[in-house]
Amino acid sequence: MALAETAIIERFFRACGAQRADVALGIGDDAALLSVPAGCELVATTDTLVAGVHFPHGSPPGSIGHRALAVNLSDLAAMGARPAWALLALTMPQADEPWLTEFAAGFGGLAREHRVALVGGDTTQGPLCITVQLLGTVATGCALRRGGGHAGDALFVSGTPGDAAAGLALEQARLEVPPELRGYLRERFLLPTPRLALGERLREFATACIDVSDGLLGDAGKLARASGVAAQLEFTALPVSAALQAAVGAERARMLALTGGDDYELCFAVPVARLTRLAAELPAAVWGYSRIGSLVAGAGAALVRDGTVMEFSHSGYQHFA
Ligand code: ADP
Ligand code: MG
Repeated sequence: MALAETAIIERFFRACGAQRADVALGIGDDAALLSVPAGCELVATTDTLVAGVHFPHGSPPGSIGHRALAVNLSDLAAMGARPAWALLALTMPQADEPWLTEFAAGFGGLAREHRVALVGGDTTQGPLCITVQLLGTVATGCALRRGGGHAGDALFVSGTPGDAAAGLALEQARLEVPPELRGYLRERFLLPTPRLALGERLREFATACIDVSDGLLGDAGKLARASGVAAQLEFTALPVSAALQAAVGAERARMLALTGGDDYELCFAVPVARLTRLAAELPAAVWGYSRIGSLVAGAGAALVRDGTVMEFSHSGYQHFA
């Protein structure tokens, strides 16, 4: 690489994230030393983004940096955890200074917004691939999991799923939409918003939570399976954005909301007995979430439409009365 590894680290990554007092030793030694507060568990996650697989070749570098951290932040949001420290393993074909400047700005901007310190990593040459490890904390025994839901719990999702899938389709020139809708939809793919504040508040309310990265129906099904129940979603209750509806029509918008990926929203279950307090303390209109259905006895994920239950499978929707 034109720039030496040490020069890259110094120039782009040493001051990239937030400064935190609980970092006893950050970038520069063989490993970082971090102080986990008493009474807390360490929460750990990692996700890899491979160019051409998880984002199109030639994506804006700021978006790649943002997404590499956002997908990990979303995992901690789903646990009800608070992020603190990140490690960044960056493999790239060459040390392109403008690319690195934008990448670090995208990563660092989101890191500072959520008070995440970049405490280490690795820098290597090869096909573009970014792995972030994110560490955070949660009060011992209080983390949200996928597996705590019960039949009868109400099921919710944050935001408007489906937008990011349309944004990716736009990036890949697989979709044509009126120019005034492009910016919003592209941004929902390029710059996802991890729902950390909501995740932390949901510790008081939710029995189960998952972040939606692979499609709402499939991920709601994973939550349901871990909880030993089934997820039942109402087609007409699916929250779709005005932009997505205008772009692809109401029908396709809901299909994208169900099966599109890259949303990084939270899907969570709340017992009916807690719904009044949920509405009072976390108003849906303020916090941006919608009820989409319920957990019910059984297994799998199903969609209710016009009184008909449609069971989802990989071959498509299969109707039965
Ligand atoms: P070592 O060979 O001992 O792993 P490196 O020369 O790879 O050390 O890294 C030096 C320091 O810089 C280490 O603290 C490492 O964690 C950090 N580092 C390397 N690459 C990155 C990166 N992309 N982002 C943040 N920190 C990094
Ligand atoms: Mg190294």
